[in-house]
Formats: sequence, C-alpha cells, structure tokens
Amino acid sequence: MTLKASERMKIPRQHMPEQDPGQRATNFGEVNFGLACEAARTEADRCLGCKGAKCIGGCPVGVDIPGFLGALSEGNLDKAADILFDANVLPGITGRVCPQETQCEALCIRTGKSEPVAVGYLERFVADWAREHRTTKVQHPPATGKRVAVVGSGPAGLTCAGELAKKGHQVTIYEALHKPGGVLVYGIPEFRLPKKIVDSEVEKLKQLGVRIECNIIIGQTYTISDLLNEQGFDAVFIANGAGLPVFLGIPGENLKGVYSANEYLTRVNLMGAYRFPESPTPVIDAPQVVVVGGGNTAMDAVRTARRLGASPATLIYRRSRQEMPARVEEVKHAEEEGVTYHFLVNPVEILGTDDGWVRAVRCQNRELGEPDDSGRRRPIAVPGSEFEVPCQVFIEAIGTRANPLLTQTTPELKVNKWGYIEVDDKNMTSVPGVFAGGDIVRGAATVILAMGDGKKTAAAMHDYLLNQD
Ligand SMILES: Cc1cc2nc3c(=O)[nH]c(=O)nc-3n(C[C@H](O)[C@H](O)[C@H](O)COP(=O)(O)OP(=O)(O)OC[C@H]3O[C@@H](n4cnc5c(N)ncnc54)[C@H](O)[C@@H]3O)c2cc1C
Repeated sequence: MTLKASERMKIPRQHMPEQDPGQRATNFGEVNFGLACEAARTEADRCLGCKGAKCIGGCPVGVDIPGFLGALSEGNLDKAADILFDANVLPGITGRVCPQETQCEALCIRTGKSEPVAVGYLERFVADWAREHRTTKVQHPPATGKRVAVVGSGPAGLTCAGELAKKGHQVTIYEALHKPGGVLVYGIPEFRLPKKIVDSEVEKLKQLGVRIECNIIIGQTYTISDLLNEQGFDAVFIANGAGLPVFLGIPGENLKGVYSANEYLTRVNLMGAYRFPESPTPVIDAPQVVVVGGGNTAMDAVRTARRLGASPATLIYRRSRQEMPARVEEVKHAEEEGVTYHFLVNPVEILGTDDGWVRAVRCQNRELGEPDDSGRRRPIAVPGSEFEVPCQVFIEAIGTRANPLLTQTTPELKVNKWGYIEVDDKNMTSVPGVFAGGDIVRGAATVILAMGDGKKTAAAMHDYLLNQD
C-alpha cells in the first residue's frame, strides 16, 4: 500500500528496545536489541523518499538511503540488503556505532518538523536480517593480475580491501594484532558492538577473496619498501589508525593502577578480561574507578569499569556536558547504568599508597571561558578548588595520536607536524603507489569517515593500477 506523505508524517519514530539498565550494568550483552520486522517496516514508512535526498550527502560512503528504506517499506528485504551492501561493506557495524544524529539523520527533511527517520536502526535491521537469512552472493570479477597490500584491518583497511577485491585486484591485509577489525575489536566493547558482527563482516570480505595476515607489523616485520620491492605488490594502502595513547603528564602516572583507555579496553575486549579467569588476561579488580575524558573512548572505558563491578565508576571531564564529543546515546546509556559524572573538573595529580598503588586522584574545578580553536568554550582552572576522588584504578581517555613506527621506517612518507600522513586529493602519499586513509591521515575520527576514505582511495587506486603500465 502506498502511503501519502501526510500519512507518513503522522507515524511516530519507533523506539529501540534495550536491555534493562540495572541488568545490563552487570553484563556485557548488547544494550540495544534491534527493531522487530514490523517496527522496522513502520519506521521505513516514515521516509518521504525525497527527490535529491540530502541524507545521502550526510553519509560518507553514499548509501542510497531512500532506496533501501523504500525497499524495506515494501517488504522487499533482499532488495534493501542489495542496495545497502552495494555502498557499505560493513552495515551491521555502522548501523550500531555511527553518529547518525550528526550525519544522515541530521539532514533528514523531517528533522525540525518531527524526529528524523531512524536510518541507523534500519541499517542495523537490514544488515542483521541479511546475516541471518541469506548466504552471501559472492561474485568474483575477472582478475586484473594486480596485487595490493593494505596495512591495518580497521574500518578504513577493510573497506578499501573489499572495494578493491570487488574490482578484481588481489588484496592482502597485514594486521599487527592477532585478530582483524582494528578499534572495532580492540576498542569498542561487546555491549555496543558484538564481536560476532565484526567477525561475520570480515568473513564476507574473505569470501570476496581478501587475504588477512595477522601478527605482522609493517615497519618491523616488513617495511613499505619491502612490500613494493621484495613482495612485489603494485600498490599499498596505509590504514594503521592513530592508536598511540596521549597522557596528561601529571604526577603519579607511573603508579600501579593507571591505564590508558586503549590498554584497558584492549585487555577487556580483545583479550577477554571480562571473562577472567576463563581468559588468561586480567585487569585490576578495583571497587572505585575514575576515567578522564569526554569522548566515545572515555564512555566505553567507564561503562566497562561499571560492568566489571566499579561503584562508583566516575567520569571526569574538563568541560560541560554540552561540549562532550561522545555520542548522545552513550552519555544517556552510561548515566542510566549508574555512571557518575563530574563536569568542569580536571585531574592534577594521581595519589598513591606507600607501596605504589593508586589510592585517589586530586582534581581541580574548571570554569568555561571564551571559545577556543575547536569552537568549544575553553576550560579555565579555578585556583583553590582542589578536591580528592578516591579510586584504585585511573584510566586516561584524553586522545590518541599516530604511532611513528611505520613512518619512521619510511622517511620518504611526508607527515604533518602531528605525525599524520599527508595525502593528495586522491589519497596518494608522497611515495608513488602508496596511499593512506582513515585515522592515520585525519587524526582520531569516526568509523564511517575511515570507511569513506577506504572507499574513495580504492577508486583512486583502481585507476592508478589500471594506468600503471
Ligand atoms: C574506544 C573507542 C570507541 C570508539 N567509538 C566509536 C563510535 O562509537 N563510533 C565511531 O564512528 N567511531 C568510534 N571510534 C573511532 C573509530 O573507531 C576510529 O575512527 C576508526 O576505527 C578508525 O579506523 P582506521 O581503520 O583508520 O583505524 P583503526 O580502527 O585504528 O585500525 C588500524 C589497524 O591497524 C593496525 N596497525 C597499526 N599499526 C600497524 C602496523 N605497523 N602494521 C600492521 N598493522 C598495524 C592496528 O592494530 C589496527 O587493527 C572509537 C574509537 C575508540 C578508540
């Protein structure tokens, strides 16, 4: 039945069913359950199918949003999945972790008049349906005979590899860790992104012919020059992310019980510390945990600490709630789970026991001044406002930067003053045939921007490879 626009406008946004907050604060099961089929079709009915739909421009991989929503609304799930997968090789992931509220949904024509169409919920629904109900239709294009090496298996590397494989190039991904996925497996916790979703999307890429070699560090096992000259690759895509933690540089950082968020989350997610002693890797069992930071990483760390039993699990952030870069949903979910927030507060010293363990963090209040370069109001110290927050574990989630290992072993690669790789408008670096994208070019950003880079670069690499001779 075709609905009129006025009828579509009357349909309220469907609610995402969730695990009860009290219960989920004690387990690592996924928080959001996903929409049921009927609710998903009702939500898709809310799309007005605009001509020249702006939402597509808000998606860095250019998903035909009205197209897949239209197919879903008609009940043609196969067609919806075909449209979605055509533009996005990892929709089960982006449907769960993309900040849709600032991208496609922000540009939905309904925004302002009512709530935007829940594009993320529907992307997740269609991807999950496809995973459960259909076998991948693998189409192997004619081989071009060209070989590409991809460094890193995060969203940028996976997307670029998938797009190049679809064009018939032979792609090998080299990954430093023992499992592919990048931040998707070592950073984002199971309760937001179950690892079986990442595994199944990686499996689809393998079926396309992408090879993945883990435990290989480019810059150590092989250099970029080895890949091009000894291993005989025709081109390289560098997508090694920006995973080197930044520290506050305050006294007490060498105490036992201080973690970078990346180490803490890697231990829990990738090494399975939340299943300790079933898994051999522990994290320190602390009754009180403090996390500093205001982004997704800080939220993931504090929610993880809460699930591991911390009470209170406290987040301190030097600006106010409005300035937090974390997704609105994460801030709300964490609060429901019992996370305590201290806004306009910064740590100035970590205090220890006589035997070298963390016992508290000394903090100082901040007030907001004039906007800084980021457009957010600058936090200014309030002298004399110091106070202590007791804790046995202190986690720093104040940002990450480029790991210099790879660029130091390839000095011909031009980097900017922060160590991020410089690229031209085709994402080619200063070394011919070597391209780069994702966080190693942008600095810490988002999954979908990394994927957008992977996709754009694959198109440029395809042209480069075909015109190479
Ligand atoms: C905890 C956390 C939560 C986040 N939550 C969100 C979210 O909810 N939504 C969102 O959109 N974004 C989120 N982000 C940001 C997002 O995950 C990143 O922007 C994105 O993963 C970057 O992708 P990438 O492919 O460039 O790099 P990465 O995902 O970092 O992958 C890089 C890969 O390269 C490997 N590698 C590094 N060096 C080498 C080397 N020398 N040789 C071989 N392999 C190497 C690494 O092991 C890693 O697997 C989060 C980030 C973190 C840390």
